[in-house]
Amino acid sequence: MSIADNVRRVRAEIAEAAISVGRDPGGITLVAAAKQNTAERVREAVLAGVDAVGENRVQELTEKKSRGAYGAAPLHFIGHLQTNKVGAVVGQCSLIESADSQRLLEAISRRALALGIRQDVLLEVNIGAENSKSGVLPGELEPLLEFAAVLPGLRVAGLMAIPPFFSQNGSSRHFFDKMYRLFIDIGEKKYDNVDMLFLSMGMSSSFIDAIRSGSNMVRVGTAIFGERIYTA
Ligand SMILES: *Cc1c(COP(=O)(O)O)cnc(C)c1O
Repeated sequence: MSIADNVRRVRAEIAEAAISVGRDPGGITLVAAAKQNTAERVREAVLAGVDAVGENRVQELTEKKSRGAYGAAPLHFIGHLQTNKVGAVVGQCSLIESADSQRLLEAISRRALALGIRQDVLLEVNIGAENSKSGVLPGELEPLLEFAAVLPGLRVAGLMAIPPFFSQNGSSRHFFDKMYRLFIDIGEKKYDNVDMLFLSMGMSSSFIDAIRSGSNMVRVGTAIFGERIYTA
């Protein structure tokens, strides 16, 4: 299967999942998670019509961008972002999906102001409260939203999560449902500087469940590019 075939298949599966719960497939953003894939392969996915490309690492992003991998596709940062690397990401990405601390939000806002822009970010939520994962705990979300509400260089445009994955019974569903409830609750509270537009959740093995639970942004790597080959 070519990358273009894979993109078509994933699109069809997204459409089916959306329609099955009465939602418009056009309202779901497909982000190609491009880590470990070459500029040429990423370019193929862009030409096949993914809505955006997501990168996890600043170095990969910078290198592939210089090779023209992304074309006109919007770029998202989806990995753990260190405060000292915001300079390479703010203004380069239409969306930073993985903001998870006051310090990071402050650095993003400061950099965006210096560039004369307003940076859209998502707050990453550690919905399974896993030690190994980034993101804020659900209980820490409210103070972080209040903090973000007064930062002039950014806008919080939604939430992102990477829930625990249980392959046996597909029970990520429980976490997706919890995320959807948070997304709706925050949207109703109307914080300044916060528009709950995007709920980014669902990867190759889980995007169908995530969409059924209310996700409108899925980050898909393996199902588009095939298994990643990690070299040391
Ligand atoms: C790698 C990655 C994905 C995609 O994972 P697949 O299982 O390959 O689809 C999604 N989100 C993030 C943050 C990732 O790092």
